[in-house]
Amino acid sequence: MAVQTVAGNATTASPDLGPAAALSCRECGERFELGPLFACASCFGPLEVAYDLPTGSPEELRKRIEAGPDNIWRYAPLLPVPADVADKPNLNPGFTKLVKAYNLARELGVTGGLYVKDDSGNPTHSFKDRVVAIAVEAARAFGFTTLSCSSTGNLAGAVGAAAARAGLRSCVFIPHDLEQGKVVMAAVYGGELVGIEGNYDDVNRFCSELIGDPLGEGWGFVNVNLRPYYGEGSKTLAYEICEQLGWRLPDQIVIPIASGSQLTKIDKGLQELIKLGLVEDRPYKIFGAQAEGCSPVSAAFKAGHDVVRPQKPNTIAKSLAIGNPADGPYVLDIARRTGGAVEDVTDEQVVDAIKLLARTEGIFGETAGGVTLGVTKKLIEAGVIDPTLTTVVVNTGDGLKTLDAVSATSQATATIKPSLDAFRAAGLGTA
Ligand SMILES: *Cc1c(COP(=O)(O)O)cnc(C)c1O
Repeated sequence: MAVQTVAGNATTASPDLGPAAALSCRECGERFELGPLFACASCFGPLEVAYDLPTGSPEELRKRIEAGPDNIWRYAPLLPVPADVADKPNLNPGFTKLVKAYNLARELGVTGGLYVKDDSGNPTHSFKDRVVAIAVEAARAFGFTTLSCSSTGNLAGAVGAAAARAGLRSCVFIPHDLEQGKVVMAAVYGGELVGIEGNYDDVNRFCSELIGDPLGEGWGFVNVNLRPYYGEGSKTLAYEICEQLGWRLPDQIVIPIASGSQLTKIDKGLQELIKLGLVEDRPYKIFGAQAEGCSPVSAAFKAGHDVVRPQKPNTIAKSLAIGNPADGPYVLDIARRTGGAVEDVTDEQVVDAIKLLARTEGIFGETAGGVTLGVTKKLIEAGVIDPTLTTVVVNTGDGLKTLDAVSATSQATATIKPSLDAFRAAGLGTA
């Protein structure tokens, strides 16, 4: 086995990461020992975790999972974490609600079952707690003492909180002009929060330089040198959706795209469930959602290209504002292989979709949720998403962090004196 070393790593002899067996290159298949590596030493392709997956019967495994804790650790046999992970100080995210969206289904004309996987219910109110929880265990195994990341907002908060809980230092980097809710959420846990004058792609480039510098020694960047482990956290969305549907694959899933990691790992999770016999093997379609103001993957999909041309983001959906998405080409592969699509919506449609979800289901999603539901609506109207099939929409974050998107049009209906006469005179109480 070849071993690639990275400046600033702090590996221990043999990290205990449960069923994780090695890292393997997604492009050439070369395998590497488990460590804080992210690019193949031979071809620079991205590395991902390879497993010795459980061998028993599907029934046994299903029972073992169902008897586990009500968080992502119920899937520990399928994740790169030690067997005793549930006993360690971790935020224990996951097992969020899969909401059957009756009113929304009626409004959109969906008859085959419409569900919202509501990941705003995680500890720091976004799906990022899933990926960070796994990265924390990898950081522990490799002996890192500082947790770091480049973030579009939610990741910074998730890292700050997880580091606080795990007793690690944190120093996280964000574009300087994020929403106040994201900034406060990232700062409140007490680590260092650094605003970079630039967009996410500038922040990411800065972090790549920092990893190679003595300043970054002993630092685990959850989405850079721990990225292969980090990515595995998104598989738990796939596991939960299928388990909550009664160990059944949905027909169609709509997922927002920033770097594309979440979408590709949800597909990996579904494939694993099929391979393990935990769900029946039948076709499913994966749809990717972007904002028009940052739609490099959607543009490539529509043009029939295999490569993704970087864009300069300009959208209210800041959590998805990655102009040069690392996993873009893999997203294209998955959308095409499964018969899905990648689509985008305008900022105005994002706001409308946030309010549609709130009005129909009582779920207040962030701008990324508006992007995903907006794209779902657009693809249903275009006849691309089949309304007679089971469809899951992933709401990845909480609207309280992106209040600006809806604050102009969501205000008190009226302000009155505390008297019934005033209430009557205002013509209220009839809604
Ligand atoms: C980070 C993020 C995503 C998607 O991230 P990927 O980089 O594509 O994995 C989606 N929604 C929200 C709210 C996010 O913060």
